[in-house]
Amino acid sequence: MKYEPVIGLEVHAQLLTHSKIFCGCPTRFGEEPNQNTCPVCMGFPGVLPVLNKRVVEFAIRVGLATHCEISRYSRWARKNYFYPDLPKGYQISQYELPICSNGYIDIGAEAAQRRIRLTRIHMEEDAGKNIHDVRGDYSLVDLNRAGVPLIEIVSEPDIKSPEEAGRYLRSLRSILQYLEVCDGNMEEGSFRCDANVSVRPTGSSVLGVKAELKNMNSFKAVEKALEYEIKRQMETLSDGGTLIQETRLWDADREVSRSLRSKEYAHDYRYFPDPDLLPLVIDNEWIENIRASLPEMPDERRARFISEYDIRAYDAELLTGRKDVADYFEEAVRLHANPKGISNWVVGDLFRVIKEERLDEKLRISNWPLSPAHLAAMVRMIDEGKISGKMAKGLFEEMLATGQPPDKIVREKGLEQVKDTGSIEQAVAQVISNHSQQVSDYRSGKEKVFGFLVGQVMKATHGKANPQMVNEILKRKLES
Ligand code: ADP
Ligand code: ZN
Ligand code: MG
Repeated sequence: MKYEPVIGLEVHAQLLTHSKIFCGCPTRFGEEPNQNTCPVCMGFPGVLPVLNKRVVEFAIRVGLATHCEISRYSRWARKNYFYPDLPKGYQISQYELPICSNGYIDIGAEAAQRRIRLTRIHMEEDAGKNIHDVRGDYSLVDLNRAGVPLIEIVSEPDIKSPEEAGRYLRSLRSILQYLEVCDGNMEEGSFRCDANVSVRPTGSSVLGVKAELKNMNSFKAVEKALEYEIKRQMETLSDGGTLIQETRLWDADREVSRSLRSKEYAHDYRYFPDPDLLPLVIDNEWIENIRASLPEMPDERRARFISEYDIRAYDAELLTGRKDVADYFEEAVRLHANPKGISNWVVGDLFRVIKEERLDEKLRISNWPLSPAHLAAMVRMIDEGKISGKMAKGLFEEMLATGQPPDKIVREKGLEQVKDTGSIEQAVAQVISNHSQQVSDYRSGKEKVFGFLVGQVMKATHGKANPQMVNEILKRKLES
């Protein structure tokens, strides 16, 4: 029997608000343990939560950008469980009436486009962190993260392969970054994904028994964990075994997953409406104001890049996948109006370096040693014939390494292209007198040696002569 995978993803995204969801503590990452805490987020008895309005605004932004219905009336719920990083003994979340529902995200371009439906988006608070193995037999608890606002984005089981799961996650992250509600950093945990996966006989419309995979902290890890789990489930069924609904932890070093627990059910959490918080009532005017303030989204920007800059669809897709990269490109084009030239350098050379240095997840282009102004200045120098394309490759590396502007490097290293007729004529004359055999071959009709002679002139000028001028002068001298 043949099987097909079915995947649904649950993404937790930390929101970029300055303060926490129900108290005024800062959300800053990387502080001393328990620095960003107060009686509310430490769960002292008798305190009351006060909702941060910004969190609701951010959730609505995401809901609108993903074509959700925004609930005019939604409710907070307590999700009860015991764990040391959750001092209240419950997480404030949303359950029956989430703020957003029934949306979708289109992934991939044109013909290959697929629509992944979103079941819901709800708001909740993050838990703290337990820290093991740093102090003898003790475990430590850091509550800086407790109360940091999250949205959870739940997809329908519409995803058909690990590769498609990766594409969905990249699109979703890109949307959140464009909206400036989440920085999307998987390694620091501000964008986390739990992956639900099952397999079923190909073509069947009944869902199989799913496993929920946790603990993946990169896009690659999500794809690998899914591949491993799909294979495991298919093999189990093919061998006549049965699957149980369970939660499994991915081990990135060993590239295997292991069972953590059999599945808990919603009723285990004893959800009930939080009596400390009023139902959330949102008026239409606020929703419409937020809608009017939405920025240009990745799909729109891609379409505009194709029409406005006349660049290839594939390049436009790469350039707009990350907002900071798209901003970088447009800033460079504003400074030197050669979009195709600049696009080639960004997509070819800049991306090669980003991948090589494996900065894919962390890199902030605003800190990049090669500023858009420097890239634009370099492309201008090529376009004005001051340097050759070949010299520019070396210059690019030098700019990356030193952070210096291109004109300064060119001046200091004497890289400028030689365009003065006198010195090229001199080099040509030298080459002609040193290669009398090849010169007479050429004159008797063996035109192939021309390339060799050009090469000799370039060598004599240390590659700096303008190749077009070398061609012209050499031809003129040989034929005179
Ligand atoms: P739970 O009750 O375990 O929370 P839900 O029905 O709420 O399950 O779904 C949680 C996530 O799992 C959703 O993203 C959903 O699309 C996905 N999902 C549900 N059932 C399956 C299945 N059989 N196979 C794969 N994914 C599934
Ligand atoms: Zn607090
Ligand atoms: Mg559920």
